[in-house]
Amino acid sequence: MKYIFVTGGVISSLGKGLTAASLGTLLEARGLRVVFQKFDPYLNVDPGTMNPFQHGEVYVLNDGAETDLDLGHYERFTNCVLTRHNNLTSGQVYETVILKERRGDYLGKTVQVIPHVTDVIKNRIHELSDESKYDVVITEIGGTTGDIEGLPFLEAIRQFILEVGVQNVLNMHVTLVPYIKAAHELKTKPTQQSVAKLREIGLQPQVLICRTEKPLDRDVRRKLSMFCSVSEKAVIEERDVEHTIYEVPLTLHAEGLDQLVCDLLHLETRAPDLKDWRKFVERVVNPSKRVKIAVVGKYIDVRDAYKSIYESLTHAAADEDCGIDLKLIDAESLELGVDAQLKDVAGVLIPGGFGLRGVEGKINAARYAREHKIPFLGLCLGMQVGTIEFARNVCGIKNANSTEFDKDTPEPIISLLEEQRGVRNKGASMRLGTWPTNIVKNTLAEKIYGAAEVTERHRHRYEFNMKYREQMNAKGFVISGTSPDGTLAELIELRDHPYFVGCQYHPEFQSKPNKPHPLFKGFIQACVRRQSGHARHARVDQELPHRVPERELVPQR
Ligand code: GLN
Repeated sequence: MKYIFVTGGVISSLGKGLTAASLGTLLEARGLRVVFQKFDPYLNVDPGTMNPFQHGEVYVLNDGAETDLDLGHYERFTNCVLTRHNNLTSGQVYETVILKERRGDYLGKTVQVIPHVTDVIKNRIHELSDESKYDVVITEIGGTTGDIEGLPFLEAIRQFILEVGVQNVLNMHVTLVPYIKAAHELKTKPTQQSVAKLREIGLQPQVLICRTEKPLDRDVRRKLSMFCSVSEKAVIEERDVEHTIYEVPLTLHAEGLDQLVCDLLHLETRAPDLKDWRKFVERVVNPSKRVKIAVVGKYIDVRDAYKSIYESLTHAAADEDCGIDLKLIDAESLELGVDAQLKDVAGVLIPGGFGLRGVEGKINAARYAREHKIPFLGLCLGMQVGTIEFARNVCGIKNANSTEFDKDTPEPIISLLEEQRGVRNKGASMRLGTWPTNIVKNTLAEKIYGAAEVTERHRHRYEFNMKYREQMNAKGFVISGTSPDGTLAELIELRDHPYFVGCQYHPEFQSKPNKPHPLFKGFIQACVRRQSGHARHARVDQELPHRVPERELVPQR
């Protein structure tokens, strides 16, 4: 068993997760079985309760664990399927230690960071040390070297190396080599200092991944090698990629990273097979057509908040040899009118979300997409707003709402799941993780999925109220997927629309390069069709001078 620890230096947001994931891609391409682990030094038990503005998206695993978005990179870049054992936070570590202390498991000893906290951390790594399943464990330590919270994790790694032997472990330090314009120079000092910080703790990196805007010349490489005690060929340049994050494995391969890692860990492998990956990147970089897609959400300014959705769009579009021009629209800005912002898009996607803010804008967007026959994909909250819109404006249920937004609404089209009624704690208490969905025959969903049963990842508290099923169905609202017992609506579509699809789950957590998710693929196909027929639609628009004025698109409350 071999272990790779990935630490970060100088500043955060260097793309450590992406680098770790990319190394995983390369090792898998050499035939190795790779698994990942992320250690997050913050005190939250998991990121499930954190604000996407601060922390980006919460990535949900099959077993329902709400985890850091880096786990999304790991699953997308490799074939690994992760569980709650693959994301450890300080919150979990201390929770475990304190529970043990209360049970009396420490037999009267003083409970301390070393050895009790570090033991919990080391055990987590050992849990993955199953030779029959994996060849390499890649463990990323969140935060930046020098952070107080990170110390117990680094200390645990130091001890761990002692236990399993240096020949089985590699420390890879991701660092910044900034370019100072005034001096026309790349600066190595911050890296030297962050490596010095690691050494203070007793860790010596064998590989330096240098994030940089400019190429590292020989002098800079030599200097980094000398001051940081890393061989010159282990100074790896990771320049900002030009087009897509999926280029990162290819640039790291060109720098010789995978061969170096295999040499350092004494791993004999074949040369990597990157044919399919290259083809995928080629399609992302040079598509033969483009479509404009609106994403209407609350966290539009934070790129990481809808990470998996943007990636899923990329995967599906590449499969259709198509590029995407994203139009990111703040839902609140659609509350007074949508035409100006949506009239030129080929598709509308509404992501998941929580809370009232922006909901009426999303409802307006759904209405516009339905009325103008623009392909629509609603994910979780996106499906719920599409449903409320249809109830209000097609079925005439004027007060239709979700009890999330109006507790006492007389028409609870969306209401709290039965199992949620007694729930008080916010953490890990939603309907989470993989649940099966039965696809209804003779629906668009059946065509899209080509399967009778699918499993998808969930993260929600509210659901469609089946009391309204018949009434809505009579007007063309079709429940096209349900839980196996038929009680929960998992997937909806509109009969009289080219592609109006909503799902109660999150398909974005199961899409990969070269394996796009069917709902995203169907959506992109519909957008491409829409775009190619766009001239005709535009003409139809012109022939209807008495179109509903924008203001009236705001639903009456
Ligand atoms: N807020 C909604 C619910 O809890 C939707 C959740 C989501 O979009 N993930 O059901």
